Amino acid sequence: MKTRHNWTKEEILEIYNKPLMELLYEAATVHRENHDPNTVQVSTLISIKTGGCSEDCGYCPQAARYHTDIEGNDLMSVNQVKAQALRAKEAGSSRVCMGAAWRNVKDGEEFDSVLEMVRSINKLEMEVCCTLGMITENQAQRLAEAGLYAYNHNLDSSEEYYKEVISTRGFQDRLDTIGNVRKTNVTVCSGGIIGMGERIEDRAGMLVALSTLDPQPESTPINALVPVEGTPLEEQKPVSIWEMVRMVATTRIVMPETQVRLSAGRMQMSREGQAMCFFAGANSIFAGDKLLTTPNPDVNEDMEMFQALGLHPQKAFEKKSQSESISAEDSKYQNLGEKPKWSRPGHKIERNIEAQKVAKIRFENVKKSDL
Ligand code: SF4
Repeated sequence: MKTRHNWTKEEILEIYNKPLMELLYEAATVHRENHDPNTVQVSTLISIKTGGCSEDCGYCPQAARYHTDIEGNDLMSVNQVKAQALRAKEAGSSRVCMGAAWRNVKDGEEFDSVLEMVRSINKLEMEVCCTLGMITENQAQRLAEAGLYAYNHNLDSSEEYYKEVISTRGFQDRLDTIGNVRKTNVTVCSGGIIGMGERIEDRAGMLVALSTLDPQPESTPINALVPVEGTPLEEQKPVSIWEMVRMVATTRIVMPETQVRLSAGRMQMSREGQAMCFFAGANSIFAGDKLLTTPNPDVNEDMEMFQALGLHPQKAFEKKSQSESISAEDSKYQNLGEKPKWSRPGHKIERNIEAQKVAKIRFENVKKSDL
């Protein structure tokens, strides 16, 4: 099946709502035509800077305004990150994704450190990915020169539902960041979250936005919301495994060449449920006992599951060759000291405002009880 870039919401809904056995059969067929069904890519996520983020993403415990129980940390050192990447490699990961809780990248010392992290992981012969928030074209070029393999920037949901979850940056900003990454040789990783209270139409809408990108993202994480106490979405009911399987299968059909990744929410899925997702076309997972701040299955459990299912981890650079890593001194793109103006749509999301107020009261009470 040829990759199409003109999927409509109606067509995608029709696929999503097919009888499950038909949907699975169709997705598994597309999967086999485009990928080895017994190979799954294993990535490790390292939170290089945790918490204290200025944004109001309703699902995120790292947003400073919600004062959740997560332990924040400043930017890790290059050596700390390198040591964790080595451990991940020994445990079978071929890719490391570094996540920083930033609204956007700012030129300066911290970004220079991240570029060094990219260089040092590239030298370990691992695919290196970053998720650092919004980036300009020059920043994307600098990451590319350092040897970055992929940049993650999720669309999260449909354009319409996105406004119900985040008010501090717009959907178009996300597309612009993806566009900036596309001007380089870095691959794009972009997906979203289900279970935030959205309608099935919104899930289809998100897949329209992703699948009509040309080229489509090389990788697409499908997350199931993990509701965290203190965030505006703390009371959302978990999605069922059937919804997850349908979402994975539909993604596989409309994005045949993309690596579809099971991300947050895997801890809540049985092995049988995950096996069904692999059958439906998922071919990537995040390994490690933590996904930024939420729990994730243990690496050994994953390897046991792989053995039981006859799956094997994908080798690094199987889909695209390794980029050369250019040293800071030799790079063509320099620190421009950019202060880009990303938008702040600033509309109101009552649920987020309420959560912020509750968090403030809780925080004041904790402070008082410390006295
Ligand atoms: S999802 Fe990212 S941008 Fe949004 S609050 Fe969390 S860390 Fe910040």
